[in-house]
Amino acid sequence: MDYVSVLERTLVHNFLHFLIPALATWIFYRKDWRSSYIFLMLTMLVDLDHLIADPIFDPQRCSIGFHPLHSEIAITIFALMLIHKKLRIFGFGLLIHMSLDGLDCAWMASFSPGIPNS
Ligand SMILES: [Zn+2]
Repeated sequence: MDYVSVLERTLVHNFLHFLIPALATWIFYRKDWRSSYIFLMLTMLVDLDHLIADPIFDPQRCSIGFHPLHSEIAITIFALMLIHKKLRIFGFGLLIHMSLDGLDCAWMASFSPGIPNS
């Protein structure tokens, strides 16, 4: 595979934001899968920090380390949320989200034309 188009990568990335939480609820929260999936979907609100970026959406921009709620400090707080039982599912969802965004960054660097591999 020479490269994946930006549109294809963006579509796969966004699809994974729905699929991976669904798989996580099936594996870890099967008993309460409906409410768990809703909670995991609510963690996508973390992308509201894109609203203060210019442009708001840039498919060639790595979210991790750029947006405030995608910073190392924020990700550390999300990991600490795993400790508290009532916050755990939100921390879990946010870490899934950050993992998928990080995967997109790696994918972007590896396959997108015009982005040099370092
Ligand atoms: Zn994100």
